[in-house]
Amino acid sequence: MMNARLKTFCLLAVSCLFFSATCFSSERDDLQWFRGNTHTHTLWSDGDDLPESAADWYKSHGYHFLVLSDHNILSRGEKWKTLRADQALPVLAKAEKRWGKGHVETRLIDGKKQVRLMELDEVRELLEEPGKFIMIEGLEMTTDPSGYSVHTNPMNISALLEVEKNSDRTVQEELALHESLVHRHEHKTGNPVFWQANHPNFKFAITGEQLAAARGLEGVEIMNSSSNCFNLGDGRRPSVERIWDIANTIRLEREGLPPIYGTATDDTHDYHIGDYVMNAPGTSWVMVQASELTANAITAAMQEGQFYATTGVILSKLVFDERNRRLTVEVEEQAGVNYRIEFKGSLKNASLEFEPVDDVIDNKGLAHPVTGHYPDAGIGMTFHETEGLKAAYQLSGDELYVRAVIHSDAPPYFKYDEYSDLEQKAWTQPVGWRD
Ligand SMILES: [Zn+2]
Ligand SMILES: [Zn+2]
Repeated sequence: MMNARLKTFCLLAVSCLFFSATCFSSERDDLQWFRGNTHTHTLWSDGDDLPESAADWYKSHGYHFLVLSDHNILSRGEKWKTLRADQALPVLAKAEKRWGKGHVETRLIDGKKQVRLMELDEVRELLEEPGKFIMIEGLEMTTDPSGYSVHTNPMNISALLEVEKNSDRTVQEELALHESLVHRHEHKTGNPVFWQANHPNFKFAITGEQLAAARGLEGVEIMNSSSNCFNLGDGRRPSVERIWDIANTIRLEREGLPPIYGTATDDTHDYHIGDYVMNAPGTSWVMVQASELTANAITAAMQEGQFYATTGVILSKLVFDERNRRLTVEVEEQAGVNYRIEFKGSLKNASLEFEPVDDVIDNKGLAHPVTGHYPDAGIGMTFHETEGLKAAYQLSGDELYVRAVIHSDAPPYFKYDEYSDLEQKAWTQPVGWRD
């Protein structure tokens, strides 16, 4: 995780070269794009379907990889689960239709029906196909230090990383603890682990300043399509995209830390309410550019920022030409859809002075810190925008970093409240260089 990345960053900083994605290019013919979801629940925790049914949905809808990230548990060992009355029928009917009668092992305990959950290795056996679809092992480390919901996903692990569910730690201490477990695991196994902070605005648990200070953090969900994630803020508190810009500006300008990359995930919990709605599969995902479809290659590519996040917009080209300092984006056109490409980022000299914002007290009396108000317009500013299917941005040297947001007028898969997004879009990762 962070070791290799920090080393790379330091090396680059010393030799005055570029940071971030070394050169992501759809023109390199040794690289391919892979579609994946890095945050999914099943009956192993609070998702409402079998792990193989969840994986089957993703595989049959064009995904190449899937991370099952249940709360504080890996899909390992013998586990029997009592199904809720409303779950039993759809879960069993779907599995029977797909794999035949007798596929699911069931038993009755005290008059209640239980099903045996498949382990990840069994799901792999059933659904993995080389070059077409793989499972990557993961987890949602789900803890509530001092009453705040700190959830992070380590991706590509092979052992349970256990954190005490409730503690008196601060959010910052909790993030550091998650990080140390991830780091230790990565060190021990030698395999890359991509570590992301989930839904910072879920119960408004994590601020931009806290993300900035989480040194080894590699990813943050800038879009999570499950309930109560407030991706666009709540009118009083900023959107996750704004928080992301603030965090990356602080990291790059003041802390000498690499940027955090933005992910989009389904955080799927519900598989029986219809496709492409809130909490269901298929609405937010990542496109990763890697040399091969293996857990290590995909994870390492994500650590390098070789991916973009999307809620429907697909790119046919994404190139950062380091030598010419030029970021080029081209969209794969969908019939009847119009696009606008926006290049955003922060200026090198942007002021990090901020006005503190009052905490928000929730209905349990818990005070939630709010990301500061940063008045400098050079933080998260729009450098250039243009309508159409392709655009390029020439970095002048004044930018701390640049990233692209590709907007479309295609309606989003779902709209859940007044703060919901009104368009399908894609977000590329920050790129830049230091003098
Ligand atoms: Zn969560
Ligand atoms: Zn989750």
